[in-house]
Amino acid sequence: MGEDVVHTFRAQSVYCLQTIQWACGMPIGWGKCYRSESSPQVLAILNCIWDGHADLRPAFIGYDDACDLLCHVVTQDPNDSWIQSTKFIVDAWHYIGHRATNVLCRTWCNPAPTNGSQPDLVLVQEDAEGNRHQTRAFNTETAKQLNAWLNGYEAPLRQMSDVNFDFFVHVLFLIFKEQIEKRIDKGDRDLPDDFFAE
Ligand SMILES: [Zn+2]
Repeated sequence: MGEDVVHTFRAQSVYCLQTIQWACGMPIGWGKCYRSESSPQVLAILNCIWDGHADLRPAFIGYDDACDLLCHVVTQDPNDSWIQSTKFIVDAWHYIGHRATNVLCRTWCNPAPTNGSQPDLVLVQEDAEGNRHQTRAFNTETAKQLNAWLNGYEAPLRQMSDVNFDFFVHVLFLIFKEQIEKRIDKGDRDLPDDFFAE
């Protein structure tokens, strides 16, 4: 009683930003989690980003809590279309800690299965002695780079109204996207124009 109720969103109530990138580092989208980072909120962000574009979903999503997310997807709807479109894999560090105790994680979320079941995730390299080694085809370094860079803006973001917060994050994503584009151009890793020809 007697206390002023301020009906203004403050970004302090945002627990964390979820960022989503392609494997090359190109940012795709983002969303906000409130109170905690939870599977229902993460699934809602994914559904929002690919709303109406189910055909453009990635074949794999790497996420450090992918096993809990997959569990949530299946529990809320065993016929959820994400089950058909996408494999949810954890990052390598998470997997080391989880594989022994979590059957779902070990069965479905292994980031680099060595049994040949996911050839897109595993590279076979030959060393100087001609021995063949399996290594992970992807790493999560670019995701770490984006998140570390965004952390530098956390203090100003916490002071912003909701509209400014969203706008500011969009601009940060745009700047990061341009940096990634430059990096890809410089490394000559862009796709040739005829790749897009009919
Ligand atoms: Zn796990």
